[in-house]
Amino acid sequence: MYNYTKHFINGEWVESTGSETIDVINPATEEKIGEISSGTEEDVDRAVKAARAAFPSFSQTSKEERVQLLENIANEYEKRKDDFIKIITAELGSPVTFTEEVQYTMGLNHFKAAAKILRDFEFTERRENSYIQKDAIGVAGLITPWNFPTNQISTKLASALASGSTVVFKPASKTPIASVLLTEVMEKAGVPKGVVNLVNGKGSEVGDAISSHPDIDFVSFTGSGAVGKKLMQNAAEDIKKVALELGGKSPIVVLDDTEVETAARTAISKVASNTGQICSTGTRIFIPKAMHDDFVEAVKKLVDEYPIGDPQDKNTFTGPQVSKDQWEKVQDYIQQGIDSGAELIVGGKGKPEGLDKGYYSRITMFTNVDHNSKIAQEEIFGPVMTVFTYETIDEAIELANDVIYGLAGFVVGKDPDKLAKVAKSIRAGRITINDSAPDFTAPFGGFKQSGIGREWGDYGIEEFLEPKTILGMPK
Ligand code: NAD
Repeated sequence: MYNYTKHFINGEWVESTGSETIDVINPATEEKIGEISSGTEEDVDRAVKAARAAFPSFSQTSKEERVQLLENIANEYEKRKDDFIKIITAELGSPVTFTEEVQYTMGLNHFKAAAKILRDFEFTERRENSYIQKDAIGVAGLITPWNFPTNQISTKLASALASGSTVVFKPASKTPIASVLLTEVMEKAGVPKGVVNLVNGKGSEVGDAISSHPDIDFVSFTGSGAVGKKLMQNAAEDIKKVALELGGKSPIVVLDDTEVETAARTAISKVASNTGQICSTGTRIFIPKAMHDDFVEAVKKLVDEYPIGDPQDKNTFTGPQVSKDQWEKVQDYIQQGIDSGAELIVGGKGKPEGLDKGYYSRITMFTNVDHNSKIAQEEIFGPVMTVFTYETIDEAIELANDVIYGLAGFVVGKDPDKLAKVAKSIRAGRITINDSAPDFTAPFGGFKQSGIGREWGDYGIEEFLEPKTILGMPK
């Protein structure tokens, strides 16, 4: 049992001022694996006071000291590798191979990338008659979702620490234990007291208290658009800066020179990774009309090569949804797809055969989908893909852009001019051509309703800085 009912405030693990707890459930077994405190407004206030008190000295630390701190964090994080893999697999239901290769590694890479970038980062600049100095923003409130328990918080923490800001953070209550481990890593790495404060609890209480706290200067939020809007309203009360990393409905544009098997494997692997619970994954695939029927046949043939099941099994590709309510949401969307007249290629409602326990969905693809229907337009956050056909590249681009989101996009094919044209024309923050590797130094974030601001690398650090212009600064 992971019983972590304390918050981390001012460098100490302290009791909550509230008495309620929240159960942590393993979505593969539906069993309780631990509990955390349901924090209160008072807990947040204590954490903000600690972060505020730590800010004057931490913001004045040298760049070199903060590089060292980030490197220490990366080292300590690596020492807890087995613990991270064990807990992320248990609390999220992320398959153990994916947990190690993606979940664990992404969390680590943000600290490494921030340390590397910080070494050459310029906090001052001279320009004509001015001297520009970038100051740490102050106390930052960080609020994160459950789908990447270390990645989402690591990018925010790495940027905040690199900038010299202090933080109060609240992870999702469905997957909070990885954040407890991460806080232990911070402690071991020598993060000064009050610089990083963890308050666990519900979004409606702890998250709400963070976004409306008058002594927090900046809220960096990752999560749903609905909560993002609420948070902006709270932040508007005292003109607090917000950065929002929200949902997506990203396109995959397949060029006509792509092998059908490549197209099918791309579609299946994108939508089934992390059980479709990736904000930036491709969930709408655009196939040349002439390739459609072969693509459908290839998907039917290949889908069983992506096994769904026990996250502890090294061969599992897709685990359960994170929770019962997420499973029900996905089921509801599949029903809406059926009701809208779309044609099922694979999958459908219910649990896969033999998986009665655990919140497992079936890898599902629809074709002949009405482009204006809900399954075509709304973020499902489950392994559900919609297939569309196109006749010209311009038509594919127009349809790809015809959603309220703009977080990511994918283009698959060979012709370099067409690949570049599609990549440049999709209105989204990150486009991946074929199977290019991720880049932790490049910005990540959304156009349109996918968000405001950028994370990762130097763009991420800039979010936590306030530029100040001094005119007539003596040399
Ligand atoms: P969510 O919006 O329900 O919750 C996100 C966080 O906000 C949680 O910590 C939650 O407790 C907290 N919260 C809830 N109500 C709150 C309130 N009233 N005030 C302040 N905080 C509150 O999202 P989720 O279900 O945890 O995550 C899924 C969503 O996150 C999807 O929409 C997904 O696309 C998005 N996401 C985006 C990115 C990105 O980088 N753009 C990355 C991962 C996930």
